[in-house]
Amino acid sequence: MTPQDTVPAGDFGPPQDGMQRLWTPHRMVYIGGQDKPADGSVAQCPFCRIPAGDDEAGLVVARGRECYAVLNLYPYNSGHLMVLPYRHVSGYVELSVTETTELGQMTQAAVRALQAVYAPAGFNIGMNQGDVAGAGIAAHLHQHVVPRWLGDANFLPVVAQTKALPELLADTRARLAAAWSDAAAQPGEGR
Ligand SMILES: [Zn+2]
Repeated sequence: MTPQDTVPAGDFGPPQDGMQRLWTPHRMVYIGGQDKPADGSVAQCPFCRIPAGDDEAGLVVARGRECYAVLNLYPYNSGHLMVLPYRHVSGYVELSVTETTELGQMTQAAVRALQAVYAPAGFNIGMNQGDVAGAGIAAHLHQHVVPRWLGDANFLPVVAQTKALPELLADTRARLAAAWSDAAAQPGEGR
């Protein structure tokens, strides 16, 4: 490890981390990176594989009955996570009523947990459905929750700084997982 790799993860917390990233939904295609599945089968699907392992190794933030939340391996900002069903389905309309409800509830919990840990100025929340729409792993539906800060899209990432990300992701996962139960306990605020 070089000294650059061992900077405490806490020193990289936004908005002072200097890791400003370009926001381009097209780059969602790189989610999964070298792990991008060869086909759309369950056997090839990382989102089916992740819940079978432990939370730390899989960067799982929270597990629900039918959905779970996991950090993105290639985040656009610190705290970029995804909420998705355990079931291997590609279309939003394929979700059951209970999956749809839990996906929404866990998305709200994700927003609250991110607010508690990182206090972002805003969020991008959404799904890219299908390869043509930029889904990196189109066969398994996933909802992105991306915290945003003013000015975070102004500069391209600096390659050298991305070396610190694996350490940052482990720290981010632990912080969000710790904040999750309080976040999930709060009901939706609508009437
Ligand atoms: Zn899957």
